Amino acid sequence: MAEFTMELNDEQKEVRDWLHGFAADVIRPAAAEWDEREETPWPVIQEASKVGIYSLDFYAQQYFDPTGLGIPVAMEELFWGDAGIALSIVGTGLAAVGVLANGTEEQIGTWIPQMYGDPNDVKVAAFCSSEPDAGSDVGSMRTRAVYDEAKDEWVINGTKTWATNGGIANVHVVVAVVDPGLGSKGHASFIVPPNTPGLAQGQKFKKHGIRASHTAEVILDNVRVPGSCLLGGKEKLDERLARARERAKAGGERVKNAAMATFEASRPAVGAMAVGTARAAYEVALDYAKTREQFGRPIIDNQGVAFQLADMRTQIDAARLLVWRASWMAINGRPFTAAEGSMSKLFASETAKKVTAQAIQILGGNGYTREYPVERMHRDAGIYTIFEGTSEIQRLVIARTLSGLPIR
Ligand SMILES: Cc1cc2nc3c(=O)[nH]c(=O)nc-3n(C[C@H](O)[C@H](O)[C@H](O)COP(=O)(O)OP(=O)(O)OC[C@H]3O[C@@H](n4cnc5c(N)ncnc54)[C@H](O)[C@@H]3O)c2cc1C
Repeated sequence: MAEFTMELNDEQKEVRDWLHGFAADVIRPAAAEWDEREETPWPVIQEASKVGIYSLDFYAQQYFDPTGLGIPVAMEELFWGDAGIALSIVGTGLAAVGVLANGTEEQIGTWIPQMYGDPNDVKVAAFCSSEPDAGSDVGSMRTRAVYDEAKDEWVINGTKTWATNGGIANVHVVVAVVDPGLGSKGHASFIVPPNTPGLAQGQKFKKHGIRASHTAEVILDNVRVPGSCLLGGKEKLDERLARARERAKAGGERVKNAAMATFEASRPAVGAMAVGTARAAYEVALDYAKTREQFGRPIIDNQGVAFQLADMRTQIDAARLLVWRASWMAINGRPFTAAEGSMSKLFASETAKKVTAQAIQILGGNGYTREYPVERMHRDAGIYTIFEGTSEIQRLVIARTLSGLPIR
């Protein structure tokens, strides 16, 4: 087990500086344009692909860093550049992780390369779990997958919503109900290959923030996929469902804990994205406060402004520490006895909202215009308290973990 450290080693510093350079030179200058266009920034994804930032290999390398700091450092730098563009770059990873977590080696080898494409023909992928009536309440999912034994095909019907890259993805990973009696334990994940009939994009959402990231409904109308598209395979699914039925009878505790551990491990990455956005806004505000003069002196000369900056920086550093702690725990298999992963996401996302709002205040009228980036950063920051579990759901998970009670 790696010791917990806050000191990046030389290799980590090199990766951080390289990503920071890409974020500063390529992402940040393109941010305002793609926010206005509300379109996927394909040329920036292509640029990221050319330099090696848009590939499974890169993220896998960061993930397996034994200190746990590889992913949070990468996310912080990319999202420091711009949240919408960075999500367009890392969004495919959601679907890739879905395949890595549940797929066979053959499925991983077949589908993940098709999710990313190559620098001359970049592709994206989508992970489709949320539905109009199943957001926080995943157990209410209705999208149904039924096995057609005669043809060895699965038939999927339903409507997914809020899917990042939904409808424009080359490969969609779709979560569907295979055993309605088992609630969320009766779900399975399927690959929907490129150009499969029956899959269509529904409404594309016009959003408050992260507007460079495509978010849409995905309609599945009698979508037929080969048996080989069930992630993990039929035999494993049947075994898992049989175990879930047994455990449901015995109270369901072990299954619940396994699912919780997965979220605890993935949530710090969202926390790191929030830290990146918060830091970006804080830096703009600090520079501005040092140069903007009112009453014959820089506005930072006033405690009313300087103390705000002190609070902003303190909260950002505290958020990063929580994120790094949880990331270290995840890679080293430490039990999340206080839901430390959820804690890091909760604190970092709320910090990003607060700090970006304070940055607007420090920039005064300029902060409220699109001439300066902080209003965009504030709009972007709103997403962190919503996706990968809302702040209320994080508090629920933390409270349940601490109390051992089924708090509602
Ligand atoms: C831009 C964007 C991108 C997304 N990308 C994806 C994606 O790629 N794939 C995907 O599957 N999903 C994605 N999502 C969906 C996201 O995960 C959901 O929006 C989120 O889980 C919340 O679900 P909901 O929007 O239905 O809100 P609801 O669950 O309806 O919640 C509404 C409000 O009620 C509160 N609430 C609900 N239940 C409780 C409770 N028990 N106790 C206290 N408060 C509660 C919530 O905290 C929230 O404040 C994305 C969403 C957005 C906005």
